[in-house]
Amino acid sequence: MANRPIREDRLWADIEELATFTEPDRPWTRRAFSPLYVEGRELVKARMEAAGLAVRIDAGGNLIGRREGAKAALGALVVGSHTDTVPGGGRFDGIVGVAAGLEIARVLEERAIALDHAFEVYDCLAEEVSPYGLSCVGSRAVAGLLDEMMLARVDDEGETLRDGITRMGGDADGRASARRDDVACYLELHIEQGPVLESERLDVGIVTAIAGITRVMVEVEGRADHAGTTPMHLRADALVVAAEIVLAIRRLAEERTRTGRGHFVATVGEARVLPNAANVVPQFVSLLVDIRAEKRSDCDQFLVDLTGEVEGLASRCQGVAGRVQPVSDNAPAPSDPALLADLRRAADEIGLSRRDMASGAGHDMAWFSRIAPAAMVFVPCLAGRSHCAEEWSDKGQIARGADLLFETLLIADKRLSAKQGI
Ligand SMILES: [Zn+2]
Repeated sequence: MANRPIREDRLWADIEELATFTEPDRPWTRRAFSPLYVEGRELVKARMEAAGLAVRIDAGGNLIGRREGAKAALGALVVGSHTDTVPGGGRFDGIVGVAAGLEIARVLEERAIALDHAFEVYDCLAEEVSPYGLSCVGSRAVAGLLDEMMLARVDDEGETLRDGITRMGGDADGRASARRDDVACYLELHIEQGPVLESERLDVGIVTAIAGITRVMVEVEGRADHAGTTPMHLRADALVVAAEIVLAIRRLAEERTRTGRGHFVATVGEARVLPNAANVVPQFVSLLVDIRAEKRSDCDQFLVDLTGEVEGLASRCQGVAGRVQPVSDNAPAPSDPALLADLRRAADEIGLSRRDMASGAGHDMAWFSRIAPAAMVFVPCLAGRSHCAEEWSDKGQIARGADLLFETLLIADKRLSAKQGI
């Protein structure tokens, strides 16, 4: 990276310094809305100003640094992510994206690069699940999708999200002003949070889509009987049927992974058994199924197959009924094809090894993609570990990702400017 404009030591120093703002006995915890989070953001703000950016906090509580472009009629090229962590979380998730934005701002400033578009760095408010139970608070506001019901949510102390946003320097009632319709493109650098790039020894992953997250509840109704006296062949054991359904879900998901059109995973991570007693044949079981699909059609087909399996398996056991109920449904967020082409071209020009991949985790990019062409870059992380104290990426890996963002911004600036004919 010797000849590259991105300076990895400078980028790394920001990541390390931000890591010092942590709960001392629970590294590396800096939860959104906490005093530590505010202190960390003060550092980000100072770094933004030192990089020549004009800094503000929008009504959605996002911390934003802006550099004007040569052509005022064009919108902004935005690089963003978040600086909050999960409890006991890591030093890299989200943070590398904001640090990359800062380093790019410094490079633009010291090389006096005049982009046609404005350039902005977003430190999005509360990407992780906040104390109010809501994630991506700031980026939802940017997309105009932060609603009254969300704002009325309360934390353990009874404070509303509305008041929390005010405490962070935002203004929930004026949130319409946080919505952007002038973002020319959005790019986000993030650690992969999975093991693929490391195992394939690749520099970067170019994220083609953030998988949709669909949750359904499988309910199995059987009959409670005495566990000591009811013969095996006379039982309507809901848990036995539920166990078969769990295995069927794994099989169907493996099939979909093989035959489907993109990233697909399904997980039963939560189960409830009633009455959940040692001496009673289980009467009722619910299984919460979490489905992540890059392509909507894969999710739809899986749900058809799952419903068939649930009904089929239940019908094989007399006295047992099974059904599938919808719980929540978030559509996949595809990346912008032209921006993906810019990313691939930039990666090839600077000699980075790469692959396309989908993100199984949610990110701020999913909300920005509602209002602007958006895409993401992943860099490898050690053993795929994330949301834990062991989370780690090397400074060279992060710098290569930042370098790719920088090169892509130069390409996108020209392409989007030419497209507007301004
Ligand atoms: Zn993140």
